Order: sequence, then C-alpha cells, then structure tokens
Amino acid sequence: MSDYDAIKDKFGAYCSFNEPAANFTTYRTGGAAWALVRPGSRDELGSLWRWCLEKKRPFCVLGKGSNVLVSDKGFDGVTALTERLAGIEISGGYTVKAGAGVLWDNLVRFCAEKGLGGVEKTSGIPGTVGGAVRMNAGAYGQEIFDRLVSFEAMDSERRIFTLKKHQIAHGYRNVRGLESLIVLSATFEFYPLGSTELLAERARVLVKRAEKQPLDYPSAGSVFKRPVGDYASRLIDVCGLKGLKIGGAQVSSKHAGFIINSGGATSADIYRLIRKVQSEVKARTGFELELEQIMLGDFT
Ligand SMILES: Cc1cc2nc3c(=O)[nH]c(=O)nc-3n(C[C@H](O)[C@H](O)[C@H](O)COP(=O)(O)OP(=O)(O)OC[C@H]3O[C@@H](n4cnc5c(N)ncnc54)[C@H](O)[C@@H]3O)c2cc1C
Repeated sequence: MSDYDAIKDKFGAYCSFNEPAANFTTYRTGGAAWALVRPGSRDELGSLWRWCLEKKRPFCVLGKGSNVLVSDKGFDGVTALTERLAGIEISGGYTVKAGAGVLWDNLVRFCAEKGLGGVEKTSGIPGTVGGAVRMNAGAYGQEIFDRLVSFEAMDSERRIFTLKKHQIAHGYRNVRGLESLIVLSATFEFYPLGSTELLAERARVLVKRAEKQPLDYPSAGSVFKRPVGDYASRLIDVCGLKGLKIGGAQVSSKHAGFIINSGGATSADIYRLIRKVQSEVKARTGFELELEQIMLGDFT
C-alpha cells in the first residue's frame, strides 16, 4: 500500500494532501503539507507519529497555527492538527482539565462563566490549549503557567505521562523540553471570582485587543519577545519602521510588534521583513529582538 493510501485509509475525511499552509495558519501564507491530518484520539495521534518515524516522514503537530510561519517550500511530511482532541472537564471546584485541541479562548470563556479566575486577561489569544502550554502564552500580566498544575504528554514511543509544572523549565514565552513531546491535555487550578466581574474583564480585554491590534489582517500576533527593559513595538516604532513593506508583508501601522499579511504576502516576504526589522533595530538601538514565532521548514 502506498503512503498516500495508508493515510487515506485510516483517516478518510480527516486528512487532505498537498494542503497549503495558508489554509491552516493565521499568517495565511506558506507552501503545502504533504498530508494534513486531524486525528480523533490520542491513539490515532500516537500511531500516526510512529508511522511517520517508521516511514522516515517528517512529523509536526499544530494547534491553530497562530504562532508559526511555514516556509513557501512547504513541509514534505505529515502535519497533525489537534482540533479533535477537545473536551473540558471541571473537577473539585476549581480544577479544570482541557484537551490539547480546545481553543484557548473557549477555555477562558468557560472559566469566566463558571466564576473561575486567573486567565481572564488572556482572553482572545487565538490558539489552542496545547499551543498555549508549548509557548507559555500570556497577556496583560497573566501567563498560562501561572494557573497550570500539570499536563499529559506523549513521546515518540507513544508513552503517555503526566508532567507537573515544576518538572518543566519555563519562563516568559519559553518552555523547555516540549520540542519532542505532544501535549495531550492540561490541568489548571483557578481561584473563585464572580462571573459577572470575570465576564466584564474579558469583554474589556477583547475591546482593548481590537483597539490595539491589527485584527482585520492575517498575522501571527507579536513577532518578537519583549526584550529586557523595553518593548519590541516601541523599539520598532522609534526606528521608523512602522508601515515598512516587503512584498505583501508589512510592519503593522497599528501595532509595530505585528507583521501583517497585507494581501498576497509570501512567507519569504514575511521572513525578509522580520530579518530587516531585527537588523535595523540592532543597528539603531543595540537591542537584539528575539523571535517569539516559530519558523517551520526551509527559509534558505
Ligand atoms: C491576532 C493574534 C494575537 C495573539 N496574541 C497573543 C497574545 O496576546 N499572547 C501570546 O502569548 N500569544 C499571542 N498570539 C500567538 C499565538 O496565538 C499563541 O502563541 C498560541 O498559544 C499558539 O497556539 P496554537 O495552538 O495556534 O499553536 P501553533 O501556532 O499551532 O503552534 C505553535 C507551536 O506549538 C507547538 N504545538 C502546538 N500544539 C501542540 C501540542 N499539542 N503539543 C506540543 N506542541 C504543540 C507547535 O508544534 C509549534 O511549535 C497571538 C496570535 C495572533 C494571530
């Protein structure tokens, strides 16, 4: 049986071939994935991963693709999306377990409605629970690891284990050791707060995001991490780079920390603009802007 038939047989309507990354990333750019698969269970995900290792096909797991830039050359392997690993369970009052594929913002809304505080300021982050744990995503002073207790992970041998927060080195937008693991679910401990108050705070955050961020264009959020002692967006702004364009990629004039696909951008346009911003900021301010976003594939 060909590799194509093997995947098609197993995943049927839940797989597609030569799917452009524009269809599964928020930048809406990038070349095709040989196969794009939506496994329906951790067993399916695990056996897909094993199959790729046996067949020597590259394998990658993604949530909503909201923090990645995929090369225009695409990915000659299997990309697994976690969207079907969903489900939110509440237990013991303030403890909540969520599947890797749950949309982070759905979890935040759920918590606000149940009167569970601790993540309301992260409203509107457009990724999944798995992606949020992998990135230690955060906003307005709250980050995912603040309320995280533990998460279930799977390794390439299909072993599933639970890692407690203190077993994983983590910091600002940085979690070590997850590159070779798949997050399957995460458990959080929240604190009680009035749901009216939480929903109001959530609404305030969503308004603030819409006011400050270029949400009407495709992007992958902030391109760079916050450097110690300053803000990436401020540095980019003082260097006069707001609005700078390469091809269809543009430094947002609404929020200089974002690069937007202003129409017809390629990943190469975005990549060249990122490098240009880094070198200009370094030359003019001395700050080295470190990437927050993850580059997938070959950009040479
Ligand atoms: C408009 C906009 C606003 C944003 N605002 C914020 C913000 O305020 N704060 C912030 O922190 N981020 C922000 N982001 C970036 C992004 O949404 C977050 O980093 C998010 O957590 C990424 O989740 P994802 O599911 O999309 O991950 P993806 O982009 O799909 O993947 C990111 C990385 O995580 C890995 N990954 C994904 N799922 C798993 C899994 N289950 N197990 C192991 N690894 C996995 C991928 O392999 C990849 O390396 C923003 C993005 C956009 C487009």
